[in-house]
Amino acid sequence: MGSPNHLCYNLAKDMPKRLNLSQEIEKQLPGELVNFMWMAGEIAHTRGEKLYLVGGVVRDLMLGQANLDLDLVVEGNAIELAQQLKKNIKGKITTHPRFNTAKLLWDNWSVDLTTARTETYEKPGALPQITPGSLDEDLGRRDFTINAMALGLNPGLYGKPIDPHGGRDDLKNKLIRVLHENSFIDDATRIWRGLRYEQRLDFHLEKKTLGFFKRDVDMLKTISADRTRYEIECILKEPYPEKVFIRAAELGVLPHLHPNLRGDDWLAEKFEQARKLSDPAPPEAGLYLALLAYPLAKEETERFISRLRLPKALAQILIDTAALKSKMRLMATPGLSPSGIFRLLEAYSSPAMVANSVATESPTASQNIHQYLTRLKYIEISLTGDDLIKMGVTTGPEIREIMERLQKARLDGEIASRDDEMALVQSWLTKQE
Ligand code: ATP
Repeated sequence: MGSPNHLCYNLAKDMPKRLNLSQEIEKQLPGELVNFMWMAGEIAHTRGEKLYLVGGVVRDLMLGQANLDLDLVVEGNAIELAQQLKKNIKGKITTHPRFNTAKLLWDNWSVDLTTARTETYEKPGALPQITPGSLDEDLGRRDFTINAMALGLNPGLYGKPIDPHGGRDDLKNKLIRVLHENSFIDDATRIWRGLRYEQRLDFHLEKKTLGFFKRDVDMLKTISADRTRYEIECILKEPYPEKVFIRAAELGVLPHLHPNLRGDDWLAEKFEQARKLSDPAPPEAGLYLALLAYPLAKEETERFISRLRLPKALAQILIDTAALKSKMRLMATPGLSPSGIFRLLEAYSSPAMVANSVATESPTASQNIHQYLTRLKYIEISLTGDDLIKMGVTTGPEIREIMERLQKARLDGEIASRDDEMALVQSWLTKQE
């Protein structure tokens, strides 16, 4: 299974080690962003500040891959610079004075501006203390060498790569390498991030990095539920999230989410089926998560939900999936009537049904769920409570009962129109007399 970007990423091998990447910027980014970067570099220069493009976009420019998430770092004051830039592009800004960062928004574009900073970690897993610093210090706090590169944007430095940690060589050699041996201890979310880049780019964790990784896997327990969930959400947005989970199982990372999760061929097959079903859009996070949690028993699912502090809607999908799983035997009954299928499924959310139809080993159960989702759930009766009262049904529980019987008859194809419904109710009323 190759990533869709496979060909582009292979370009890294032949990546020119030129001293200036302004051509790559020009070729790979839309004109509007290129013009913006020129202008931003000029303005920073007149303010006596140095401005850089940093992080993932630099990595992807070098790989020949478009990435429109511009992250800019300024040796100076990001909020003041953003305010000045805003006037030139007639955009909006949002600011975070505590971190001295700003986001610029105009047309369909958004650019993050950060004041170069150093970080110190008082305790593993906690968010770091931040103080203004130089670009070098800013790059030195980053996760991997391939993400710790910058390009100058000031006049005279425009497009000049700044690569103090050998990120370009690691890109060429397809390696994920941390900047120092305590990187995973400082911030164990980098364990998940490392796996995500490794699998997305078809790279490898560099030998020493792999050693630190294995040594520090247990540091994952220092990471809060919210930060862990964010990493999992990022993984689920990858083109092939299962690759990350399979590697996570291999390296003892997956059990930190729950010991009974599977990162194996079964998961790969189910994620692939989910993609086929959702095509052309990628599957929603809820469907992927429901499949990931499928091997868990009900109580285990609840533990998994709190491990990630999943928001209500996602948690409900997982709870429904587990509840519906226990009904899959019945769902696989040959010759189950449409109304029987309806009764078994009506209480559950659609992603939980899709997850079960993908995960079940029974083609009959799968077809029944398909029938519900494509046809049965849209079948409604025409008569209302008022209609029934007009026909002589007594108000109270009888109305509901009759409506349910009508719906059953509609689902099972015994009646097909409003007139049929009226005739059937009439026959029941006559029998009662
Ligand atoms: P992606 O391609 O997945 O969007 P990205 O490289 O743009 O990846 P972001 O999560 O947007 O990643 O973060 C931007 C940059 O911030 C990264 O390139 C990296 O340099 C740095 N970074 C993000 N998270 C961490 C972390 N936990 N530790 C150190 N540096 C980080």
